[in-house]
Amino acid sequence: MSIQTVGIIGAGTMGNGIAQAVAAAGLQAIMVDISDAAVSKGLATIASSLDRQVKKDKITEADKADTLARIKGSTRYVDLQPAQLIIEAATENYELKVKIIKQIEEVATPRTIIATNTSSISITRLAAQTSQPEQFIGMHFFNPVPMMALVEVIRGLQTSDATHDTVAEMARKLGKTPVSVQNAPGFVVNRILVPMINEAFFVLAEGVAKAEAIDEAMKLGANHPIGPLALADLIGLDVCLAVMEVYLQEFGDSKYRPAPLLRELVAAGRLGRKSGHGVYKY
Ligand code: NAD
Repeated sequence: MSIQTVGIIGAGTMGNGIAQAVAAAGLQAIMVDISDAAVSKGLATIASSLDRQVKKDKITEADKADTLARIKGSTRYVDLQPAQLIIEAATENYELKVKIIKQIEEVATPRTIIATNTSSISITRLAAQTSQPEQFIGMHFFNPVPMMALVEVIRGLQTSDATHDTVAEMARKLGKTPVSVQNAPGFVVNRILVPMINEAFFVLAEGVAKAEAIDEAMKLGANHPIGPLALADLIGLDVCLAVMEVYLQEFGDSKYRPAPLLRELVAAGRLGRKSGHGVYKY
C-alpha cells in the first residue's frame, strides 16, 4: 500500500517528533491531541526544532516552511480520515490506548493500518482489541525522533506480513532503520538497556565504584555516549523502576528484581533531571 498521509495521535514529545519526521520526508501529517493548547505546543516544538536545523545549515528556510505546511494540527479524530497509516503516540496507559484505538476505528477506512508507539504495552494485547488485528502493529520510535535512526517494528501475534512490510518500508521512507521484533516485554532495546541501568545501581550500592567512576567506565570501556547512571537521570528513575517491575512480573524471573537503591531514590523523590536531583544534582 502506498502511504501519502500519516495520522499521529498525541502532540507530545513523541507525537510531534513523529509528525516532524513524516512531514520532513515529504508526506502529509495530521497530528491530533485533546486540546488546542496541546496541539499548538506540539506545532511550536516542531517549528523550533526546524529552526535549529536551519541555523545549522541542515535545511533551508524554504524547507522549513514546506515541512510545516505539510503538518495539520487538530483536536478532531474525524480529520484523520485521509490517513492510510495512523500512529498512536498518546500517554502510556492501556485503557486510554484502547479507547483511542476504538475512536480511530470509527473514522478510519477498512484498509488503514494502525500502529502504536507504546514502550511497554503488549502489541498482541492491544491488537486483540481491534476489529482488524492483522492491520495492527508496533512502531517504536526513539527520543528525540528527528535525531534517532531506529524504529523497532513490532509484530503482535496477529500482525500480517503485508502490514509489517508496509510499516518497515514507511520507516525507511522517514530515513530511519527498521528492526523487526516479535512482541515481548521491552521489545529489544529497553529489554537490554534498562536491566543494564538497574545493574549500575547494584554496582553503586555495593560500593564497587562511585557514580562518576561507573559512568566514566561505561563511556570509555563500552563506548557508550552517556553512562548508565546519567542515563537513568535523563530517563527518570521512576520510569526505570516501573519498567523493571513490569519485567519482574511478566517474566517471573528474579534476575529482573529492581535494585533496592533505585527503589530508595524513587521513594525519596529523587527522580533524576526532572526533579532536579537523581543520582546527580542538577
Ligand atoms: P507526552 O506526555 O509527551 O505526550 C502525550 C500526549 O498525548 C499529550 O500531549 C496528551 O495530551 C496526549 N493525549 C492524551 N490523551 C489523548 C487522546 N485521547 N487523544 C489524543 N491525544 C491524547 O508523552 P510521550 O513521551 O510523547 O509518550 C507518548 C508515547 O510514546 C507513550 O506511549 C510512550 O510510552 C511512548 N514512548 C515515549 C518515549 C520517550 O522517550 N518519551 C520513547 C518511546 C516511546
